[in-house]
This record gives sequence, structure tokens and C-alpha cells, in this order.
Amino acid sequence: MTHQFEVVVIGSGPAGYVAAIKAAQLGKKTAIIEKWVKEDGKTTWGGTCLNVGCIPSKALLQSSEMYAETLHGFEDHGIQVKSPKMDVKKMLARKDGIVNQLTTGVAGLLKGNGVTSFEGKGQLKANKVVEVTKHDGSVETIQADNVILAMGSIPVEIPPTPTDGDVIVDSTGALEFSEVPKKLGVIGAGVIGLELGSVWKRLGSEVVVLEAMDKFLAAADGAISKDAFKSFTKDQGLDIRLGARVVGSERKGKQVVVKFQDSEGEKEETFDKLVVAVGRRPYTEGCLSEDSGVKLDERGFIFVDDQCRTTVPGVYAIGDVVRGPMLAHKGSEEGIMVAEIIAGHNAQMNYDAIPNVIYTHPEIAWVGKTEEELKADGVDYKAGAFPFAAIGRAMAAGDTTGQVKILADAKTDRVLGMHIFGLGASEMIAQGVIALEFASSAEDLQLTCFAHPTLSEAVHEAALAVDNMAIHKMNRKKR
Ligand code: FAD
Ligand code: AMP
Repeated sequence: MTHQFEVVVIGSGPAGYVAAIKAAQLGKKTAIIEKWVKEDGKTTWGGTCLNVGCIPSKALLQSSEMYAETLHGFEDHGIQVKSPKMDVKKMLARKDGIVNQLTTGVAGLLKGNGVTSFEGKGQLKANKVVEVTKHDGSVETIQADNVILAMGSIPVEIPPTPTDGDVIVDSTGALEFSEVPKKLGVIGAGVIGLELGSVWKRLGSEVVVLEAMDKFLAAADGAISKDAFKSFTKDQGLDIRLGARVVGSERKGKQVVVKFQDSEGEKEETFDKLVVAVGRRPYTEGCLSEDSGVKLDERGFIFVDDQCRTTVPGVYAIGDVVRGPMLAHKGSEEGIMVAEIIAGHNAQMNYDAIPNVIYTHPEIAWVGKTEEELKADGVDYKAGAFPFAAIGRAMAAGDTTGQVKILADAKTDRVLGMHIFGLGASEMIAQGVIALEFASSAEDLQLTCFAHPTLSEAVHEAALAVDNMAIHKMNRKKR
């Protein structure tokens, strides 16, 4: 028997499940297919983000931050705690509990919105036929009016350090260490490497991060990445080696010897655990039959236009499997846009206002253009920055590292970018996103009343600093 649906979504990550819920809310008869099975043999919903990505990593970041705070931050407040200890098993169980709550929550939302679930691997064939191979090997066929491909991404493996699920692991393995590794190597100083490196460093590991590029966080604004590098290395003791390209590894008993090349030649480091965090790649293997008609680009992403249409009419692709930042919220927004397009709306997405966050301590967050990008594009801009060191609330919190930096068009005053390194940056960046979305000027932010005392006052002061009008610091230039 062939099932008929108006919308079929392959993959239930934050791109796919949001698309399915939205399509159902818009009155479409919708199905979703998910192949991920947990150790207990049950299907799990929510994709990378909920199972092994955003959520479990943030749970561990929170636990490890509280531990580090207990060890190093309490004394200043006059709080005395006798030799705190970390129960890693309990920390992992807490993380698993949060994951379980959210993944079952997604299953409930899909059901509650009337989305039909199929458990198995989906494959798109010609003419919008989707085959689902269930875990028992049986096959079901669906004829769809519209298909949304949302198969997500998987970690990149590099030949010098093949993962073995024991000593050499990917990001998923690094969320599950049953004890704190004495010495931990991390390959890649990207978002995932920095976040997971921070978790285990706070819990007591000696952490060495090997990064092939000479520049730290090249995608971030230069002033912010410079501040962050100093803070992570000098203040927090993360040993981040830039210009260090890993070229080989050898297992020696319970350890791994990693060979890397830097400006001085070939070197070695021995680690108890090694996390390979060199990026993620789109996952399409076995999901598109040869006659599906869907084309990939030269990097293996499904080729789509600005509205996520693939080369086949009625077939869309969203999330990590297509171009653009590999971020959960970007995929979810694409899911909403595509569901609306299918329902007959002319929906569009503003790719210029997608926030980026790195959940280190302090956090790094930005939206819009960096100063380096504006220079390269020849844009005439003004910049204003304000340090948290001059913010009363940051002092009260005992955390004055970092700054807010705002970039605005020199002629129109329109906000072009906001960059934050500091406590609470992940929350504060929403102000920059709203500014960009609403096409605000720096003056709009200057004329806005911010509550006192809050960390967000640094946003206000940075906007004032754009025109050399900051109140709580000396302005370099006279107006
Ligand atoms: P995925 O979440 O990868 O979901 C794809 C789903 O499709 C999977 O469940 C998969 O099993 C299923 N699937 C694949 N092929 C098939 C098939 N043929 N049939 C049926 N099902 C299939 N992003 C953020 O925005 N914020 C963060 O803080 C953040 N932290 C992260 C931390 C880590 C450690 C990692 C690894 C990632 C993190 N990310 C974060 C990235 C984020 O997880 C991804 O951008 C996001 O999950 C992409 O969503 P997606 O729906 O496109 O794909
Ligand atoms: P991201 O793509 O943001 O997750 O970051 C991955 C990082 O891994 C990038 O900064 C790469 O430069 C880095 N990287 C990739 N391959 C290697 C390697 N062989 N040795 C060290 N760093 C690497």
C-alpha cells in the first residue's frame, strides 16, 4: 500500500521537526521520518541538536561551570565550601535526563499537531516518492506532494586521527566520558572544540587544543577573538596552539600519541583522550536515489535557492544539509519558511540576521558583519565599543571580562553588526538580532531606555560610543 501525504519530511532535527509541525499547523497532511534508534531500541526525535548537540553540551557546560565557580568563585563572596567533588556519573545522568525530556517532548508535539511518524530510513526516489526502510527491513512507500529533506550533518573524520570510540572520539564521545581525562587533546578550535574543551578543563583535565589555522576564531570580529583568546589561554589555562596541524596519531595502550606540524616542525603530544572536532559535513548517504533528481553542490550540500528549493520542483532542503551556518535556529527558521511556501505564502528568510553563539565562559555572540568584513567590502562604517569592566552589574557578578562592540553605517547610521564577548552574551545578542531585523539605527539604540543595573547597559553604551557619546567611559574623539 502507498501512503499519500501533502508534506513528507525526512529527518526530525530542529529543521525537520519544526517544518513538520508548521506544515501541519497550516493544514497540510504531514508525515515525518526518523531513523535514529537509541541503545534501548527506541526511536529518538530531535536530531543532533537534542540528542548529541546543543542541549547535552549546554547541560555539561552548566554543570562544569557551577563546579568551577564553586572551586574558584565562591571565596570572593565569603562563601566557604569544604573540598567540593564532582560526581561525573551524576552529571551525565542529569544531561541524559534533559535530553530524554526534550526528545520525548518533540515526539509529543509531533503527535499533538497531527503529524504522522514513520520510524526508519527515508529515501527520496523519482517523482516525489519516498521509501521508508523500517528497522525490521520492511519497506513502506509514501507518495508526497511536497518533500522536505532535513537529514542534517555528521562529524568530519580526518585520516590522521580515525575515531575508535574509546580514546579517539568525536563530539558525541566527548559528551560521555565516564571520568575526567587527565590530559585531553582537542583537534579544532572551532565552536564545538572550544565548548567541549571548556567542559573538561573546568572539571580538571589538562586541555591542549590543536588548531591548524594561525588565526583564532577567524569568523568572529577581530577585537572579540583577540579578547577571547587572551581570556581562554591566560585566565582559564586552555592551552590553544594555533598553526598546529595534526598529521598523525598512534595508539599506545590506553593513550594516543598525536603528531602535529607547526612553524617549528613536527611535534608530538600524548593524551588520555582525544576529541576530533574539525567540523561537520552534510549527511545525504543513501537518502537520495540516483533518479531523485536532487543535485548536490561541490561541497556535498544539497543545492538550494534562497527559499530552500532544490533542483526538483516540490522538493525542498533545509538545515545542516544545505549551505549556510550549521546552526539549529537557522534550520528551524528555514523549516518555517518552507512550510509557509508550501502553504502558498511567499515567505523569505533574512540570512543576514542569524545570531552566532559560542557557549564558552565568557560567551561569544555576534550577529551581522564583522569589522574585517566591512573593511573588505569597502563599507564606510563607524564603530563603538564598551567594556564590561565599567558595568556595575558585571562587577556585582564578579565577571567583568569582555566588551560589546557595535558597527553602524557611517552615512545611514543603520546597525550592521553587534559583537559581544562577556557574561550573558548569548542572551544579550537577541538585542542585536532585533536591531538588524528592524533595520534600527545606532541612534535608535542610543534613545532606548535600558534597565539599570544590567549587563545590557553595555549595549546601550556601545551604541552611544558609535558616535563618541558614551557616558561611562572617556570618548577618544570629540564630536
Ligand atoms: P540534525 O539535527 O542533524 O537532524 C537530522 C536528523 O535526520 C537526525 O535525527 C537523523 O537521524 C535524521 N536522518 C538523517 N537521514 C535520515 C534518513 N534518510 N531517514 C530518516 N531520518 C534521517 N547549534 C546551535 O544552534 N546551537 C548550539 O549550541 C549548538 N551546539 C552544538 C553542539 C554540538 C556538540 C554539536 C555536534 C552541534 C551543535 N549545534 C548547535 C549544531 C546543531 O546541532 C545543528 O545545526 C542542528 O542539529 C541541525 O539541525 P538539522 O535538523 O538540520 O539536522
Ligand atoms: P569548526 O568547523 O568551526 O567546527 O572548526 C573546526 C576547526 O578544525 C577549524 O578551525 C579547522 O581549521 C580545524 N582543523 C581541521 N583540520 C585540522 C587538523 N588536521 N589539525 C588541526 N586543526 C584542524
